[in-house]
Amino acid sequence: MKSNNITYDVIIIGAGPAGLTAAKVLANNQKKVLVLEKNSVLGDKVCAGGLTVKDLKEFNIPKFLIEKEFKYINLYIDNRLTKLKLEKPWIWTCSRRELGKWHLAEAEKQGAEIQLNSRVIKIQKNSVLVNNREKLSFKYLIGADGSNSMVRRFLALRIKKTLMGMQYLVPKGKFNNLEIFFDLEKFGPTYAWIFPHKEFDSVGVCANPNFIKSNQLKKNFDGWCKKFDINTSNCKFQAAPINYDYQGVEFNNIFLIGDAAGLASGLTGEGIHPAMVSGIEVARKIVDPDYNFKQLKELIKVKRLEEKALTSYKINKIITKIGFNLGSLLLKRKRVRRKLIKFLTNK
Ligand SMILES: Cc1cc2nc3c(=O)[nH]c(=O)nc-3n(C[C@H](O)[C@H](O)[C@H](O)COP(=O)(O)OP(=O)(O)OC[C@H]3O[C@@H](n4cnc5c(N)ncnc54)[C@H](O)[C@@H]3O)c2cc1C
Repeated sequence: MKSNNITYDVIIIGAGPAGLTAAKVLANNQKKVLVLEKNSVLGDKVCAGGLTVKDLKEFNIPKFLIEKEFKYINLYIDNRLTKLKLEKPWIWTCSRRELGKWHLAEAEKQGAEIQLNSRVIKIQKNSVLVNNREKLSFKYLIGADGSNSMVRRFLALRIKKTLMGMQYLVPKGKFNNLEIFFDLEKFGPTYAWIFPHKEFDSVGVCANPNFIKSNQLKKNFDGWCKKFDINTSNCKFQAAPINYDYQGVEFNNIFLIGDAAGLASGLTGEGIHPAMVSGIEVARKIVDPDYNFKQLKELIKVKRLEEKALTSYKINKIITKIGFNLGSLLLKRKRVRRKLIKFLTNK
C-alpha cells in the first residue's frame, strides 16, 4: 500500500456542489485541501438541475451555466391549472455536468487539489484508504459524499428520513414552461415536475416513502405520465434517495455537509443550495473554530418549519387536502397570485 507521507489539513470525500464549495473556501484560506471523487466525470448525479434566484445571487453562479430561464410556472393542484407569470426570473435549469465543471475550476483556481477516479473505501481515525492502494492522512475529514454517505455510516448516524426521487429524461418536445403538479393521492404532499432543459426535459417526481412506497410511487408516476401523454417508453429512467435527516455537521474532527448531512429539503427535495451553504459554513468553522454557523442556523430553521408541515400532513390528511383545495381556489385571485410571485422572486 502506498502512503505519500503528507498530512492534509482537510480531506473531502465527494466532489459534488457541497465538497467543491467547501474546497474553494478552505484553499482560499491557505488550507492544504484534497478532494477525493470516485467518478471520472463530475455532475453525473440523478438531479433535475433546478436552481433558484438564491443560488445565483449568493454563489455568483454565472449566467452561462443556465440552460433554460422561465417566464411562467404552470402550477397544477389536483388537475386545476394556475399559470403564474413571473415578473422577474426566479428559477432556471442547468446541466449538472457543466455546474460540476464550474465548481471544479473555482476550487482549483484557489489551489485545492482534486483527485478523480479516487473511491474512498475505508475510513480510519486520521486517514482514508483510496482505491485499495493509497493511504492518505488528514487533520479534518469532510463527508460530502451524498445521500449514501460512507462518512455518515462511519459516524454511526442512521438515516431515518428520506425522499425517493425519480425522473425520466425525455427527448425535447412539447414543454417550454416549468410545470409543477400536486396530487395528494398519487404523490402525497410532495410533487411531480417537468423541468425543461436544452436537450431533454426532466420529468420527475419525489415522494416520501413513509406516505407512498417506492414501487407504488413508480406505478403512480408512470400512470401520471401516460395521462399527460408523455411517452417514456425509450427514455432513460433514474432514481435516487434524498437524505433529509439532519443530525448535525460537526463530530470532533469529522464534518458532514450537503446530502451526507441530510440537509436537502424534506418537502421539495431541493439540495444544491443547502449543499453549497453547508460547504461554506463548515469551511469557515475549520478556518475559525469560534465561527457560529450563522447561515447554517438560518437554513435549519426553514428546514424545521418544512418538516412541521410534513408532520401535519401525517397527522391529518383530510385537513391537508382541504388546505390544498383552498390554496388552489385562492390562486384564482390575481392579488393572491401576485403576492405568491412576489414572495418567490424576492427570496
Ligand atoms: C430525482 C432528483 C431530482 C433532484 N432535483 C434537484 C433540483 O432540481 N434542484 C436541487 O437543488 N436539488 C435537486 N436534487 C437534490 C440534489 O441532487 C442533491 O441535493 C445535491 O446533489 C447534493 O449535493 P452534494 O454535494 O451534497 O452531493 P452529491 O451531488 O450527491 O455529490 C456527492 C459526490 O460524492 C461522490 N462520492 C460518493 N461516495 C464516494 C466515495 N466513497 N469516494 C469518493 N467519492 C464519493 C459522488 O460520486 C458524488 O460526486 C434532486 C435529487 C433527485 C434524486
